[in-house]
Amino acid sequence: MNEIYEAQTTTIVTPQILLGNHLKALKLPTFAREYDKVAMEAAQDRADYPRYLLRLCELERIDRERRNIERRIRLARFPQTKSLDTFEFTAQPSLNKSLVLELARCEWIETRQNCIALGPSGTGKTHMALALGLAACQKNYSVAFTTAAALVHELMEARDERRLRALQKHLNAVRLLIVDELGYVPFTAVGAELFFEVLSQRYERGATLITSNLPFDEWTSVFGSERLTGALLDRLTHHVHILEMNGESFRLATSKKAQRRSTQAPNAITRASTEEGKDSKI
Ligand code: ADP
Ligand code: MG
Repeated sequence: MNEIYEAQTTTIVTPQILLGNHLKALKLPTFAREYDKVAMEAAQDRADYPRYLLRLCELERIDRERRNIERRIRLARFPQTKSLDTFEFTAQPSLNKSLVLELARCEWIETRQNCIALGPSGTGKTHMALALGLAACQKNYSVAFTTAAALVHELMEARDERRLRALQKHLNAVRLLIVDELGYVPFTAVGAELFFEVLSQRYERGATLITSNLPFDEWTSVFGSERLTGALLDRLTHHVHILEMNGESFRLATSKKAQRRSTQAPNAITRASTEEGKDSKI
């Protein structure tokens, strides 16, 4: 910066260049990009200086909010983008829609509660977790999305590399931790302990969303220990919202519909029956 001030006094530097430098140093990129255009508009509207500055401030704040949300979404590491707008509630009658809409307002994250989505494969649990995660990012909460298997793998790796503390600290700090697909892969004893530790440390400190294809009474098969499962469920379900998603697989229902259509339109039979075959394995 000193060089700039020296340059200002010793040589002729255009105010635009200096202004550009100052705005960059002050981290006001929208000011820098828009001040000229807004100045012309202000002149046309005969707006006074405070109004001119106000317009620039508003633009900067709007843009900053957008950049923050984009950053939250990037850091959350969602595998895909899904939102509630594309979720068909009619396809999942067991799901409490008003509860979902309430959860999308994110008060449960503010009050550090938990949410568990339960149901068989294909019922939209991951879609729901992604949509609620996105809603949280849009409200400027920090979010981390992972699967149970990936989380345990990462914890074990961190432990072997003596950076478990740092990872635990990161997982503790995030406002919403989403753990997808608990139940598909059973944990080793060490894996189960490490998973338990994360959730135990987050108890009443941060919100956690878990999705599982297993009802609670089968969670012991994942953790391998009744004692640990009991202690985990005790903490997890103290302040919890349960999303029951026990309907039919959306993929299966969609391909069944496609097959019904193909019976009416013989040309489409081959493609639809291939899809049915693929989805029925889920
Ligand atoms: P799960 O995680 O329960 O196995 P997914 O969320 O992966 O199920 O859903 C499978 C596919 O079906 C995804 O592409 C998802 O977007 C879609 N899907 C599931 N349920 C619905 C629904 N009710 N409305 C719209 N799309 C849905
Ligand atoms: Mg899933």
